[in-house]
Amino acid sequence: MISFAFTEEQKDFRLTLERFAHDTLLPGYRDRASSTDFPWDVQRRLASMGVLGIGLPEEYGGSGAEDPILLGLATEALAEGDVNVASAPVQVGLVGSQLARGSETVRQEYLAPLIRGECTVAIALTEPGSGSDAAALRTIAEPAPNGWRITGEKTAISWAMNAAAALVYARAPGSTRSAGVSCFVVPLDAQGVSRARTLGMG
Ligand SMILES: Cc1cc2nc3c(=O)[nH]c(=O)nc-3n(C[C@H](O)[C@H](O)[C@H](O)COP(=O)(O)OP(=O)(O)OC[C@H]3O[C@@H](n4cnc5c(N)ncnc54)[C@H](O)[C@@H]3O)c2cc1C
Repeated sequence: MISFAFTEEQKDFRLTLERFAHDTLLPGYRDRASSTDFPWDVQRRLASMGVLGIGLPEEYGGSGAEDPILLGLATEALAEGDVNVASAPVQVGLVGSQLARGSETVRQEYLAPLIRGECTVAIALTEPGSGSDAAALRTIAEPAPNGWRITGEKTAISWAMNAAAALVYARAPGSTRSAGVSCFVVPLDAQGVSRARTLGMG
């Protein structure tokens, strides 16, 4: 018979995070929620507790094999103190699992610091005209002399204002729907990139 009970290790991890959520996150929740500053101190604490590397490659500081149960436990426990902070492990997992498929340069430059809580990387998929229907995205990627030229607009991007880079989804000219869509790691200090805050949305 399959047991769905949590292991002792999972229970201990959850307890540690619940204590952190109640003792450290909860008292500062309102201040963080009303501030536009990114809480780097909290992000580094999450990293030191192993929360940011769940399911990501060990050689870059992660825990190794995918572990959606631990990811769920971590998110649930952190949400007892700060629902915004609680999104960090999932966001890092989503970004990190894509960075892990990038070149060694990309992995060293972004994946390892992401897991250490030293940088953030955003996912830039949604556009003003394409949300649920992501395959309707209109951002274009064309080969340019030293790489690619990407032209388009993204919206509602978590971590956009504090991220070092974004995973930008863009399509080849003339392509339709999901065919021709690629993901590009774009440093957000690259020439031509501009960002603006969505007030009240973190
Ligand atoms: C807090 C927050 C953080 C976000 N972070 C990111 C991020 O980091 N990166 C990123 O790329 N995007 C991000 N998004 C954007 C998010 O992915 C989009 O909001 C989402 O895809 C929905 O798109 P939309 O808002 O354009 O709504 P729409 O797609 O316009 O949908 C509006 C409504 O219509 C419904 N609907 C849509 N299509 C259908 C259909 N075919 N049949 C029936 N009902 C339908 C939807 O369920 C919804 O209720 C974030 C959004 C929020 C709120």
